[in-house]
Amino acid sequence: MMQVVLSAGAVLLSLAVIGVTIRRQGLTLSACATVAALTAASALEVLDFMVMLDPDRLFEWKRWVLAVESLLPAAWLSYSLTHSRRTATSAVPRLQWFFAAATAAFPLAALLLPPEVFIYSPDFATERVLFLTVHGYYFYLGLLLFVVVSLVNLEGTYSHASLLERWRIKFDFIGATSYLALLVLYYSQGLLHRSLNMGLLPVRSLILALAAAMMLYSLLARGSGVRIAVSRNMAYKSVVLVAVGLYLVAVGVMGEGLRYFGEGFPKAMAIATLFCMGIALVVILLSETLRRRVRVFIHKNFYRSKYDYQTQWLHFTDLLASARSSDGLMEAILAGYSGVFGMNSGVLFLKSGDNGPFRWAVAREQAPVGAFFSSNDLPVRRMAEEGWIVNLREVSPEEFSGAGEFVRENSVVFLIPLSSGEGLEGIVALGRPVHEGELYHYEDYDLMKTMARQAASALMNLRLSEELASARELEVMGRVSTFILHDLKNLVYTLSLTVDNARDHIADPEFQDDMLGTLGNTVNRMKLLIARLRGLPEKQSLNREEVDLLLLAGESAGLAGGRDCVRVGGSAVCAHVDREEIQKVVMNLVVNALEATEGKGPVTVEVGCGNAPYIRVSDSGCGIPEAFRAHLFSPFRTTKKKGLGIGLYQCRRIVEAHGGRIDVESAPGQGATFTVWL
Ligand code: ADP
Repeated sequence: MMQVVLSAGAVLLSLAVIGVTIRRQGLTLSACATVAALTAASALEVLDFMVMLDPDRLFEWKRWVLAVESLLPAAWLSYSLTHSRRTATSAVPRLQWFFAAATAAFPLAALLLPPEVFIYSPDFATERVLFLTVHGYYFYLGLLLFVVVSLVNLEGTYSHASLLERWRIKFDFIGATSYLALLVLYYSQGLLHRSLNMGLLPVRSLILALAAAMMLYSLLARGSGVRIAVSRNMAYKSVVLVAVGLYLVAVGVMGEGLRYFGEGFPKAMAIATLFCMGIALVVILLSETLRRRVRVFIHKNFYRSKYDYQTQWLHFTDLLASARSSDGLMEAILAGYSGVFGMNSGVLFLKSGDNGPFRWAVAREQAPVGAFFSSNDLPVRRMAEEGWIVNLREVSPEEFSGAGEFVRENSVVFLIPLSSGEGLEGIVALGRPVHEGELYHYEDYDLMKTMARQAASALMNLRLSEELASARELEVMGRVSTFILHDLKNLVYTLSLTVDNARDHIADPEFQDDMLGTLGNTVNRMKLLIARLRGLPEKQSLNREEVDLLLLAGESAGLAGGRDCVRVGGSAVCAHVDREEIQKVVMNLVVNALEATEGKGPVTVEVGCGNAPYIRVSDSGCGIPEAFRAHLFSPFRTTKKKGLGIGLYQCRRIVEAHGGRIDVESAPGQGATFTVWL
């Protein structure tokens, strides 16, 4: 009698749901799927009822039962893929298409094979149990698999719904999932005992009735037409899968237990399971971390993400990229954080010195003058060592030796560590939340950390490039001063040579004339040098003019001071050059030649014109060591004790600026010849 009521109730309620669905939605894909799923469920009710009522024609009825059961996978799979979803076939993952195709195997099997292939019942009239053959076992195993897939799909839909959508579809979903969960229970029990226990039918009818009632309530009271967009790569971490998996393992253990320990096992097992669950519950209730983990787990799986990470990340990256200075960058970091987490105040503290405290660098509101975070404060140490985000709702301001007041006054809520490979670089303090009561959880922390990584690396890049720029400046300064030193050295050389000669020849009027000329020249060159210093770091352009190279070579040799041992000869050749610069070249070469001959000479300067005008400086000094040839024109390379290694480098640059080149011929011990082609 009870079975009649339950089955009739279930069927009537299902029919009501079907009716309302068609009226509300018409013949849409989703409505058709609902109709198919509920029709199959009701037909199963009626047919199984007939099996019980008319056991003599068991196999006749069973053929129909199997036919309807074979339609369950297709019906519920399409229900789970279309119900309350935005149905775009392109959004259906390939795997689901495969499943959909596979559902065809069930009706084929049920149509082609007689029911005796699936079940047998030695004495159905007295004991209402249907035993499964091997074929039957796999048939129901497959069915179970499809019921689980449908459950996972429904979970996917639910986890993508917004809060409002959830409110509207809640009962609908609870109804459908409870019916499917019951099917899991029913078929898994069947697989465990290798028999279908018809004694469970009233439970199935009851659940179907309840499920249909909830669906009906949902349809009538909360309306239909919810369309949820489900992404293709949904729910890889399905709670349903985990739960069903655990349940099946438990069933498996029960099955093994039954086999070895006989019928008494389920009772012992049930007591043991209850006991273990009790212990687990106590552990969970007492453990804060576990509770938090469970909370996070549930949140991650059943609630939509609070943030659209991709958008947030792109936005933050854009903000950082638009900053042009380090201050701008730090302001961008604060603006990013304050905007995302709804905070009115934000301050960025940067590490001063190697182990020094963290002092404020940029503040969005009032600057917290005097406040600092010491590296020895325990929360700061934790930030540095474990990358912890400090929540001031959990940590007392007293723990900060130098920032307690700042933390309190600004209602600071979070301290976020900005760490690079070299440790903690800075701390972002966020305070005065826009919504006082806003709750922050693991998602906020995840995003804060991701942004911190981004911000820290941007800060480090900027710091490194600033360091590089100042290092370059220093290098240029160093190089320029070396150039100047070199010029000065040449001038001093000329002067000291004049002084030396003056001791012997000062009375000689010709020498006096000469000396005056040399001194005047040196003064001019010093003036030039001073003038050049104004145009640091290097001369940018050449002041070309028509210059008689022979005359210029004579003057330069004179300036170099080797009046007695330098011979200047050749033909008067005119060239369009920067007099001052070419003079420098010849002077450099002559000074080098004099040094190579230890001031004794002879040094010859020859001016001529081959393919192009040239000035050739030759000496018969020590020559250039073979090993040094490759470094001859490189800056700062020298073989002399007091040398700078600048002269030839400078010469090459000047000559190349004129579009010319310098050739060198030398053999060790036999002197050297430098030819400047202009
Ligand atoms: P510095 O004279 O300060 O060493 P230079 O750039 O003028 O710098 O010269 C670089 C090196 O080239 C010298 O140290 C020397 O070894 C070699 N060198 C230059 N000119 C001659 C030369 N005429 N004979 C031999 N070696 C020379």
